Amino acid sequence: MTPPDDRALEPASKDASAPGPSDTEPAGASAPDGAAERFAALEQVGQRSSDLMIVIDRAGRVIYANPVALATFGISLEEGLGTNAFKYLHPDDVERVVLRFIELLGTPGASIRDTVRTLAEGGEVHELEIVSTNSIDNAAVGGIIINGHDVTEHRQYVERLREHEERFRLAFEGNMAPMIFTDLEDRVIAANDAFCKMIGFSEEELLGKDSAPFTYPEDVGITEESYRRMVKGELGQSRYVKRYLRKDGRIIYVEVSRSPARDAEGHTLYFVISERDITEERVLTEELSHQALHDPLTELPNRLLFDDRLKQAHARVLRQGGLGAVLLLDLDDFKGVNDSLGHLAGDQMLRAVAGRLQQVTRDSDTLCRFGGDEFLYLAEGLHTPGEAEQVAARLIESLAAPFLIGGSYVEQHSSIGVVVWDATRTDNDEFVQEADVALYEAKREGKGHYVVFTPSMHQQAISRFALTQELRHAFAAGEISMHYQPILNLATSEIEGFEALMRWRHPQRGLIAPSVFIPLAEQSELILDLGSFALRESVAAASSWRLPASKKGQPYVTVNLSAHQFHDPSLVTMVEGALALSGLAPERLVLEITESVTLLYVAETMSVMEHLGRLGISFALDDFGTGFSSLSYLALLHPRIIKIDQSFVSPVLQSLRHDDLLEAIVSLGHKLNMTMLAEGIETTEQLARLRSLGCELGQGFLFSAAVPAEDVAELLARSPDSWG
Ligand code: C2E
Ligand code: MG
Ligand code: MG
Repeated sequence: MTPPDDRALEPASKDASAPGPSDTEPAGASAPDGAAERFAALEQVGQRSSDLMIVIDRAGRVIYANPVALATFGISLEEGLGTNAFKYLHPDDVERVVLRFIELLGTPGASIRDTVRTLAEGGEVHELEIVSTNSIDNAAVGGIIINGHDVTEHRQYVERLREHEERFRLAFEGNMAPMIFTDLEDRVIAANDAFCKMIGFSEEELLGKDSAPFTYPEDVGITEESYRRMVKGELGQSRYVKRYLRKDGRIIYVEVSRSPARDAEGHTLYFVISERDITEERVLTEELSHQALHDPLTELPNRLLFDDRLKQAHARVLRQGGLGAVLLLDLDDFKGVNDSLGHLAGDQMLRAVAGRLQQVTRDSDTLCRFGGDEFLYLAEGLHTPGEAEQVAARLIESLAAPFLIGGSYVEQHSSIGVVVWDATRTDNDEFVQEADVALYEAKREGKGHYVVFTPSMHQQAISRFALTQELRHAFAAGEISMHYQPILNLATSEIEGFEALMRWRHPQRGLIAPSVFIPLAEQSELILDLGSFALRESVAAASSWRLPASKKGQPYVTVNLSAHQFHDPSLVTMVEGALALSGLAPERLVLEITESVTLLYVAETMSVMEHLGRLGISFALDDFGTGFSSLSYLALLHPRIIKIDQSFVSPVLQSLRHDDLLEAIVSLGHKLNMTMLAEGIETTEQLARLRSLGCELGQGFLFSAAVPAEDVAELLARSPDSWG
């Protein structure tokens, strides 16, 4: 588009600003000269105005400009007068402004409003809101008055605000963090996508509502207090965790951070609430804390959690009276399960045991895995010590039925040490240790028992500990030796062999019986050292025994093996080594094992026995009748000799029943084609009875107690009728 009159719009030259109207200029149009007088009235206003004021003639030439106008255009009055006013416009605005100017020229007295940009000499752009009034007919003016208010800064401010808002909008809507705005009544006024996604509701469903519909019912109202204080301005920002109920019914945990948006006076306008779904973290933390307090294998509480519960339980007893109890349960011969069936089966057994124990654990009590094959049971709210014993009996009973492990039935029993306490026990540190002391007593009494701790046991435990230490030294110092008790053929009264029995000759205490120190040694690896010592010694001793030339064959030696030794993988090599070293014929070695060795792990026991059997070694089943022997096992293992326990031979109470039992045992052994040996023969009556039953072998004080190695030759030399 072209301006209506090229000439009129051409910037007026300095010359053109000289007196004399232009071609287009109507007659009477004002010239710049004498402006001062003509605009005296305008001057009054213009000089002081903070707004821009110019007057232009019909041709668009500047005939008056106030200081603000001159400053805006970047010129002096002299430079400006007579020049074309459009020259100071921003090029992009010229065409539009000129069109409106022409329109205005046609209506004298009219005003128009517009927003225009100016371009100063120096390139500076200003934005003005202008009012142009056609005052051409007004003699005092004779031109168009243009009043302009500079809105550049305001515009910039508004623009900045708009940009700011845009950024804020983007930050809100596109934010990965769930966010909502709420009004002073805490109703949702905006919710971003992330929030809607987290909660499962659309923004439309949320607008105008408070958080109640999606807050987990129990958590409604938990944040009210902080919200009220925030409205009052007492609280700047608050953070809290609450649960939401998603539209799909799922519960999630969210961490909420709420800040008030305030005006310049500090009045709260609305709330900005940003949230974080912490459900996963929470689950993880819970899992971690569960892991920290539970045993991964059995899922039972671990020692840490138990200690905490014990502390609380103890505190309750101190406060309210009553009794509490700690029961320490240890699986009998569990090591054998691991060694013979493998660790997987061992783990399976532990889980199965934990499951059984848990079934009989009261809700108020705590069952925990103490480690290895030990479990702790905390019983609360007891009234009598007898109740603690009932708990122990119940736990033992729960393991009575055999366990199905890896396709076969395995027996697993346990022993329990019990500690009962009342409010007089102000310290709980010792309970577990005392239960351990009682447990030791329980094991000593035979497996599958419980024993309640008494203070006197403590002293025993201390001396036991001291004794264990001494035993180590004693072994190193050569205080341990082997004695030999003769085994006689009851029919001929001739010696067939000797049982090797260990002795500890203590420098101060004298002879200490193996029933005292063998169980101690069995608590540690020391038993393996003692065991191989016994074997080497006995085999070496036996290799020098000679029966009088008139007798057939040579005496054998029987050596006791503890369960630990039997399950020790190096047993076979050790036996072979001892035989090789001494030169003793394997046929002269008999190994004594007890039912506890054989009972649980028949397959493994059989393979070890077979292996040694192939070498020529035979077995005696010791202490027969005291364990839980099953006849089918007995038939399977088929030891050469069965040693009838002395409780059948010399019972404390002589009764018919015992006599019947003895008879039954002997005839059973004979049916299975085994040699029967009676232990502990002390009287000639017992001997006579055994002879009448056809029991082949016997040993006992009636013949001789165990003697030192150097006395064996003397026994061997005795005549048969000297034995009684
Ligand atoms: P055991 O193998 O049943 O040994 C028989 C026990 O009965 C021996 O006790 C023996 O001295 C005792 N005895 C023999 N005749 C009579 C009698 O007429 N009356 C009475 N009342 N007792 C008699 P000891 O030597 O005290 O051994 C006790 C247990 O210690 C043994 O029982 C055995 O289980 C264990 N033991 C002994 N030496 C060893 C060893 O070298 N290794 C292992 N692992 N255990 C051993
Ligand atoms: Mg024995
Ligand atoms: Mg025995």
